[in-house]
Amino acid sequence: MRIDVVSIFPEYLAPLRLSLIGRAIADGALDLRVHDLRDWTHDRHRTVDDTPYGGGAGMVMRPEPWGEALDALLDAHGAESAGTTDSADGGAAGAAGGAATGETAGDRPVVLVPSPAGVPFTQAQAAELAQRSRLLFACGRYEGIDQRVVEEASARAEVRMVSIGDYVLNGGEVATMVMIEAIARLIPGIIGNPESLAEESYKDGLLEYPVYTKPAQWRGREVPEVLLSGNHGAIARWRRDRRLERTARVRPDLLAALEPELSTADRAAL
Ligand code: SAM
Repeated sequence: MRIDVVSIFPEYLAPLRLSLIGRAIADGALDLRVHDLRDWTHDRHRTVDDTPYGGGAGMVMRPEPWGEALDALLDAHGAESAGTTDSADGGAAGAAGGAATGETAGDRPVVLVPSPAGVPFTQAQAAELAQRSRLLFACGRYEGIDQRVVEEASARAEVRMVSIGDYVLNGGEVATMVMIEAIARLIPGIIGNPESLAEESYKDGLLEYPVYTKPAQWRGREVPEVLLSGNHGAIARWRRDRRLERTARVRPDLLAALEPELSTADRAAL
């Protein structure tokens, strides 16, 4: 998968080079390219914002640099020559070209525009986006990006405004990192043991059960006995019951959506 990120603070994305996602980038399983939006400005001050039409506080990101950035990155040929702020992957990734991205005809790039006014980002979306070959994150700042950029890009890509939660951040960079981590860990081969993804929270609409490790006794607290029993059926039932209980307590909205699918044994746990 190839992921482009456009931001006025490209250094913000540096932590993505750490840990499992970092290794996937280093191994070439993930082609991450981070770009400075100001590379597509043409004035001495490299201006990316201006006052809002209609008045009001704050500034709005101008459409011209965004338009040029998307022209360069969404055009398959332009993408290979586009500047990147990340020397670690720039040259090699550019040289690898379309073959490395696995891009296929008909697989439209998805442009993700982080915004508190977007649709909520979910695990189901992360799983769907993990199947795509090309994603582009457009990180807004100030009061956001001129809406015409979103409209215009829709002609060339699937554009989605997405929110990572019901709160307001200063910019789209942290939201982008959240989404890239959630998506990339679902790409086959990135997590060493794929079984660890099988029972995670949200996979089937429930939250995960509580987990324990050695020692069996710690500060007078014991690991639940069933987990030491070796009885796989009893362990599976205990875990499912804890998931149901926890979801009912913390996220009753999730449980309500699953209500019609609950078995008699499930209902007994609630
Ligand atoms: N004026 C905007 C509003 O009220 O909807 C808030 C703009 S916010 C200060 C600046 C940028 O931060 C947004 O353009 C977006 O990129 C990012 N951002 C803030 N909160 C976010 C959230 N919950 N999810 C995704 N992106 C967010």
